[in-house]
Amino acid sequence: MVSSTMDTDVAIFGAGPAGACTALSLLNYTDLDITLIEQSDLNRERIGEHVTESIFDFIDYLKIDAEAFGNDCFIPSFGSTSYWGSDLPGIRNSVFTTQQSTFQLNRELFDFQLLENIADRNGKVIPRTHCKKISKLEDNRWELKLSHPTQGEFTLRSRFIVDASGRNANISRQLGLGSKKVDDLMAVGRFFQCTNEQQRKQEYLIESTEHGWWYGALLPGNQYSVCFFSDADIIADLKLNQQSHFNALLAKTKHIRKLVVGTKVISPNPWVRKAYSQNNAFESLPNFLAIGDAACAFDPISSLGIGFALSSGCHAAKLIDANLSEPKNDQAQLINQFQTDLHNQFDHYLTLRQQIYQQENRWNEAPFWLRRQSNH
Ligand SMILES: Cc1cc2nc3c(=O)[nH]c(=O)nc-3n(C[C@H](O)[C@H](O)[C@H](O)COP(=O)(O)OP(=O)(O)OC[C@H]3O[C@@H](n4cnc5c(N)ncnc54)[C@H](O)[C@@H]3O)c2cc1C
Repeated sequence: MVSSTMDTDVAIFGAGPAGACTALSLLNYTDLDITLIEQSDLNRERIGEHVTESIFDFIDYLKIDAEAFGNDCFIPSFGSTSYWGSDLPGIRNSVFTTQQSTFQLNRELFDFQLLENIADRNGKVIPRTHCKKISKLEDNRWELKLSHPTQGEFTLRSRFIVDASGRNANISRQLGLGSKKVDDLMAVGRFFQCTNEQQRKQEYLIESTEHGWWYGALLPGNQYSVCFFSDADIIADLKLNQQSHFNALLAKTKHIRKLVVGTKVISPNPWVRKAYSQNNAFESLPNFLAIGDAACAFDPISSLGIGFALSSGCHAAKLIDANLSEPKNDQAQLINQFQTDLHNQFDHYLTLRQQIYQQENRWNEAPFWLRRQSNH
């Protein structure tokens, strides 16, 4: 039962990797009171699973025993094969990282283990809660009007708020902060279950086609994730949210379709997710930070998202601690510097993204590829 008015030091919106990592870092390294507010009931299928071995450094930093994730959370992916720019296979570890081992993650186990650790360390996690209004009190704290389907409406007063609400950056929008969407990329995909050992290939496969690109990978639990990326209008025109249309396009691929031969489809209908690149306006508000996808969301071709969510979460926790323990101007400047660094990193990412897309010249007239020949 939540009381009608509560106080906390830090209110974090969004229980994805970024929000959970910020909460855990603060609980581990400070005495601050933390409240993590999640809009959903946490039951949604979690997508995005290709990570580098640096994930284990974060787990270590978060003081979680890697074994707590169990045997089914991480499987090594022995390099990736891409048919991008040519019918000949290109072998690489991942598009932007060439030196580290990579892993496929069971996102459900991973995200839930982080949340379980937050609860174990006395952080409050409030799911199914919607933020109706955000305002500033005279003493500079935030006042959040929250609503829960069974507990009703309640107020949370917080010294600092964090937007970790993902690509939509819902909290930043609510605060009137702008964001810049670079493209209209969407993902549509299905999960397949391997029914025998022979089907399991520890592979991460990318294949570009006229209308966009596919990726397929073996996940923990002997499942394949197969996913197509294109622009929202193209996905709508091709009706790819319908299984017959999705399957027909999959059947036209040269390589990806072979991954799922003899497997059993798990999800009846394809799932659809936004996958556009965006960065927030990096305007500074006192006692506020956006992190993870809410700050910078990357094209999944980069496999940057989860690593960035974790690193920005750890970094944000340090800034919040400094800001709340010694709220002086130079602390605010550190936050400004953090925003500037993110801005520069995002610009650098855009250049890399353009270089990657420019490597594919086989369908230069097709709208998906044509739109990616220029940078912004
Ligand atoms: C199809 C696809 C494939 C991807 N593949 C990869 C990959 O292989 N490797 C990789 O590193 N990254 C990948 N990504 C990106 C990766 O999933 C994200 O970068 C990562 O999940 C970002 O974490 P986050 O915590 O910032 O946001 P999210 O994981 O999106 O979490 C945000 C949370 O905030 C909640 N929320 C939203 N609004 C509110 C609100 N108003 N109040 C409270 N809660 C709210 C949401 O319900 C959600 O739980 C992929 C993304 C997509 C779409």
